[in-house]
Amino acid sequence: MDKIKDYNEFISIIRRDFDLLYKGYDYFSIHDGWFDLIIDMSSEICQKVAAKDLKEISIIDVKEKYGQLSFYYITDNMSIYNYKIFSNIIEKYEDKSSSFCYKCGSTNDVIMTNTGWIKPVCRSCRIIDKLKDS
Ligand SMILES: [Zn+2]
Repeated sequence: MDKIKDYNEFISIIRRDFDLLYKGYDYFSIHDGWFDLIIDMSSEICQKVAAKDLKEISIIDVKEKYGQLSFYYITDNMSIYNYKIFSNIIEKYEDKSSSFCYKCGSTNDVIMTNTGWIKPVCRSCRIIDKLKDS
């Protein structure tokens, strides 16, 4: 899939393909670099969690915390088996997000920077922002 170019495109994919998981939630307060990661995560959940349990999932908030994504969700009446699959996927992508540049999604030489907020930033975005490697 091509890289998602802006929030409008991101939210229209969420609506079209993954509304079952987000159930109308559309206030993603995240930066552009993580759009593709969230789409990948959502499609992995839909592929691996059995259909009968997918409808029990409600992802109710998505935020950035300490330089990585953080998902908040409710699950009702889900089998333990599928809950584990689901929560493992969420954790995997939360961890993974810290190695993706929050601005552009690159994984090239990403380090955590702290300019008041802790964020993972790739080499070229650091050069653009004139941030020092530290
Ligand atoms: Zn970048």
